[in-house]
Amino acid sequence: MNMEKSRLLFEKSKNFIPGGVNSPVRAYKSVGMTPPFIKSAKGSRIIDMDENEYIDYVGSWGPMILGHAHPEVVEEIKKACEDGTSYGAPTHKELILAEMIINAVPSVEMVRMVSSGTEAVMSSVRVARGFTGRDKILKFEGCYHGHSDGLLAKAGSGALTTGVPDSAGVPSDYVKNTIIAEYNNFDELENVFKSHANELAAVIVEPVAGNMGVVLPEKGFLELIRELTLKHGVVLIFDEVITGFRVSYGGAQGHFGIAPDMTVFGKIVGGGMPVGAYGGRKDIISMVSPVGPVYQAGTLSGNPVAMAAGIKTLEILRDNQCIYKKIEENAKELEKSFLDASRKFGIPLKVNRMGSLLSAFFTVENVVDLRTAMTCDVGRFRSYFQNMLQSGIYIAPSQFEAIFVSNAHEKEDITKTINAVNYAFSRLQ
Ligand code: PLP
Repeated sequence: MNMEKSRLLFEKSKNFIPGGVNSPVRAYKSVGMTPPFIKSAKGSRIIDMDENEYIDYVGSWGPMILGHAHPEVVEEIKKACEDGTSYGAPTHKELILAEMIINAVPSVEMVRMVSSGTEAVMSSVRVARGFTGRDKILKFEGCYHGHSDGLLAKAGSGALTTGVPDSAGVPSDYVKNTIIAEYNNFDELENVFKSHANELAAVIVEPVAGNMGVVLPEKGFLELIRELTLKHGVVLIFDEVITGFRVSYGGAQGHFGIAPDMTVFGKIVGGGMPVGAYGGRKDIISMVSPVGPVYQAGTLSGNPVAMAAGIKTLEILRDNQCIYKKIEENAKELEKSFLDASRKFGIPLKVNRMGSLLSAFFTVENVVDLRTAMTCDVGRFRSYFQNMLQSGIYIAPSQFEAIFVSNAHEKEDITKTINAVNYAFSRLQ
């Protein structure tokens, strides 16, 4: 595969942009390759500067559930641009998108738009602290909630560990109020509440984790979080930046039938434009300025072009919920092909899937938390990844990310992908 133009651009970019990229995983460091520089994308396909065409399962890390450059979404974006790209003033479009989110997700009574998932999570935590007058939050190991200081923390060795920063530049003071517990660990969760219930402002969780690869909540785990948070007046925040409008039109909470107090959205609600949103119970969300004392603002919040993309994307999903069936069926086929190839070539593998999200883990262990995810053979993943890319299949360059199936993936794409999986597995040691 010729990647000469990408290679040259990458080398040049490294002189002007740290690592040559504007988000670290794009640098392909863990897979030891040059990242393709993307020229364009349409439907299920993405094309690089050297005219290599790939079937794309990254989907911009989740937003592109309808596929790239969906004609109706593009049309709305164009129309919005012609009316001016930003006013910094209220618009009808913000109201429309807010109402659409509220109608889709009953636990959300009011919603505030921002420009990224990180911003939405950060703001939701501030609101929860303002509402409860408490400082501590509980997050789960392996869940990613954006790159704000207080959330860039994972556990050292587990239970009741006060957060340790994951990044240089995060003062340990900033994470001293972040308590970490293992995902799916019922005992640890109960212990945190035994020791800290009265200090906890919020529990934040990805209701289906997507950032240590796809990890499903065990039966009763989310229910226990809900029970304990209700009992102790702790705000439960579901981070549905990945799962919102993905796992179902009502998100993961719609699927599991659990109502959190607050929900964070991103990705799909922006239809491929920069959007985040946080919402929830009216009494909680009313803490935010100008109604309440919790300050939060944004020059480009509720941007009209981004709202237009989000509205059209949600409209299409709302009016064509058969999309969810189709993308799940296709994801199931991929899941089966991974398991078949694993048996055929004797490669240990576990697959986790929720709807159209899936991860194939190169391990013998059932992946239920970060510890089990870390048992994966990342060297084997690297080899698999390189072979998939060579075969024209574009997946995330990390063992710990999801495959995102979109509505633009058709039978032909799935068949080609299954062939590529078999080819890649045949070359693994
Ligand atoms: N929350 C979750 C669950 C995410 O997956 C992400 C990003 O991938 C974020 C928050 C942060 O969103 P953003 O990258 O838009 O800041």
